[in-house]
Amino acid sequence: MLLTITTTRKPATDLGYLLHKNPARPQTFDASFGKVHVFYPEATEERCTAAMLLDVDPVGLVRRPKGSGGTLAQYVNDRPYAASSFLSVAISRIYGSALGGRSKEKADLVDSRIPLEAHLPSLPCRGGESFLRALFEPLGYEVEATNHLLDARFPDWGESPYFSVTLRAETRLQDLLGHLYVLIPVLDNAKHYWVSQDEIEKLLRHGEGWLTSHPAKDEIVRRYFKRRWSLAREALSKLVEEEEPNLDEEEEARAFEEAVVEERISLNEARLGSVVAALRSARAHRVLDLGCGEGKLLQLLVKDPQFEEIAGMDLSLRSLDTAESRLHLDRLAPKQRERIKLLHGSLMYRDRRLERFDAAAVVEVIEHLDEPRLAAFERVVFDFAKPGTVVVTTPNSEYNARFENLAAGTFRHRDHRFEWTRSEFQGWAGGVAERFGYSVRFVPVGPEDQEVGSPTQMAVFSR
Ligand code: SAH
Repeated sequence: MLLTITTTRKPATDLGYLLHKNPARPQTFDASFGKVHVFYPEATEERCTAAMLLDVDPVGLVRRPKGSGGTLAQYVNDRPYAASSFLSVAISRIYGSALGGRSKEKADLVDSRIPLEAHLPSLPCRGGESFLRALFEPLGYEVEATNHLLDARFPDWGESPYFSVTLRAETRLQDLLGHLYVLIPVLDNAKHYWVSQDEIEKLLRHGEGWLTSHPAKDEIVRRYFKRRWSLAREALSKLVEEEEPNLDEEEEARAFEEAVVEERISLNEARLGSVVAALRSARAHRVLDLGCGEGKLLQLLVKDPQFEEIAGMDLSLRSLDTAESRLHLDRLAPKQRERIKLLHGSLMYRDRRLERFDAAAVVEVIEHLDEPRLAAFERVVFDFAKPGTVVVTTPNSEYNARFENLAAGTFRHRDHRFEWTRSEFQGWAGGVAERFGYSVRFVPVGPEDQEVGSPTQMAVFSR
């Protein structure tokens, strides 16, 4: 089973940085289903191709689940050569950083659309060529597909479900990998060994930004979960319908760590203090920390008995792990332990776990979301979760001029997608309040400068 990815964007060998795999060094990884080899059949300035070869061990696969019978099909099957969910597993494990859009050396390239070509010599397309096209063409791919006969020596046997497929687009590598991750198992439609609850999160994460508006969304979700209707229903209910505006992905933020920039005034403490004060005065008992990160706010909230039920939610599992150890959840008395929950999820999708809370804090999170996707965030928080009070903080970009170690025109953190002036933030928040039936007031956080205001701006919405 083979997947090659080619780019012609010069210098093409930058593909190695994007994939975190050195073109000069072939590598082999162990996987539960066999071995995965990564190598570059070509690597020049003009054209570079990374190949991922899965060496699936079909016998080993059968041996693992004990006592599962011994039919011939378990030994003679297409798994070694047909692109299947194993390929998705390999993409997420071995190209994980690229799939997550991370690159230390080439941060700006990650967000650039570059000419990419993916080739799958043996992709089972159950549903035929028309279904293959219905999946990839709406995502902007040029699709080239050649069907293979079941057996060239016996043309009467007819065509097989296997195609050689080439997909071409000018896109971000991260998007290409996300599309392949979700859509290869959808096309294969064979039994996965991995359909489980946390697959919902994976589908939602890798489908972010394109699945909601995909015309074949329902069929994709149903096949992805293979007749596990309850999971498919749950995933579908989370896909909030939103017009997905065309994203201009060209955004660049120079790498300045926010913490270093803001250190001088211990802004973080001031910010968290203001948020806790707003939650207290709202008389909230059940509170959410959306985009809780490593749990700094949660640590303050658990200390105050007014907050009887506290939930932190974040997209990043690594941050949640850190939050869990910071909060010493394993050492808390059972009564205290019951008060606090950590949830893995995305603010881009409707989530019933977020309903029936008195208040939600969204601290330094919105500027991490793509601006055109704020509409989805707004519906998730203000329309579906609908807490009585919502506290949102974000940098005030006017204040950036006062940070000596921040070059003009740059953001405070390299992940920021935007930073707003006071009037931009107030304009946005005013619109949200009006659309969703909230009132809103604004509170400056940190030392106020006469001309440019305070470093952080906070909006307190109430219903
Ligand atoms: N509130 C924390 C963390 C701020 S950093 C603090 O003040 O310290 C922004 C956080 O938003 C990160 O932890 C990031 O993982 C999270 N995040 C980004 N996009 C998200 C999304 N779509 N859904 C949920 N969390 C998200």
